[in-house]
Amino acid sequence: RLARAPDGAIAVTDRWGHERRYAAVLSTCQTWLLTTSIETDERLFSQKLWMALDRTRYMQSSKTFVMVDRPFWRDRDPVTNRYRMSCTLSDRLTRGTYLFDNGPDRPAVICLSYSWMSDALKVLPLPPERRVALMLRALSAIYPDVDLPARIIGDPVTISWEADPGFLGAFKGALPGHYRYNRRMYCHFMQDDLPPEQRGLFLAGDEISFTPAWAEGAVQTALNAVGGIVRHLGGAAPAANPGPAESFAALAPVELPE
Ligand SMILES: Cc1cc2nc3c(=O)[nH]c(=O)nc-3n(C[C@H](O)[C@H](O)[C@H](O)COP(=O)(O)OP(=O)(O)OC[C@H]3O[C@@H](n4cnc5c(N)ncnc54)[C@H](O)[C@@H]3O)c2cc1C
Repeated sequence: RLARAPDGAIAVTDRWGHERRYAAVLSTCQTWLLTTSIETDERLFSQKLWMALDRTRYMQSSKTFVMVDRPFWRDRDPVTNRYRMSCTLSDRLTRGTYLFDNGPDRPAVICLSYSWMSDALKVLPLPPERRVALMLRALSAIYPDVDLPARIIGDPVTISWEADPGFLGAFKGALPGHYRYNRRMYCHFMQDDLPPEQRGLFLAGDEISFTPAWAEGAVQTALNAVGGIVRHLGGAAPAANPGPAESFAALAPVELPE
């Protein structure tokens, strides 16, 4: 739970009911969690920011991994001299198949499938074994001479980010018209003009950035949030090396009419 404590601090209550109070709090989880797994006091954000947080749109994504006995894909086909198998982008169910080796003759890993959106939804209700069977069937049409099932050791590992209560989606996929929402979230680290009851809770992460699905944007927004927190606590970057807060006026995303 996130709430304003009577002394003005932000009170963070964990799942065991322990409350701790802080002058500043940084939230880096998916923004949808602020209205689902985290009980967030509505007064901590403006209604316009809540609208942005709630309208953030997440993409679905799924991956399915199996472990194999060794990186057999590095072997050459004696007839064609081509690799047995390689990174495979397909318009079939698998979409993206990636190969990870850990040295010759050591167990290796195949990501049988990395898919997004509709393709991820196709496997959402399916258990790991069924997902693997479907992926192997699709790959057997592409590699008829490779006996993939004979290579597999161990149980498959699969994830659908949208089915994980700690995520509810893989990463932001902003829709046309969402610039205004993105700008609200991205600029929230500058809190000078906010009413006192909306200060102290900061946001960073993939969906706060303008470049979701890339770690770089998460890092950039983290730096912004740190700059905002330092300012909130009364500090500043050195004059010769200005931080995001000091550079905000010059570099802020353009404000467009709503
Ligand atoms: C399938 C997929 C593929 C990707 N591929 C690439 C790529 O190739 N290159 C690239 O640069 N980026 C890629 N990304 C994006 C990259 O993973 C993200 O940009 C980055 O991980 C975002 O970092 P973050 O700290 O914002 O959030 P996350 O790494 O998502 O961390 C948020 C954390 O908050 C935790 N959390 C949730 N709820 C709570 C709670 N109540 N209390 C405490 N903790 C909580 C979550 O468990 C999670 O660990 C990919 C992402 C996905 C999902």
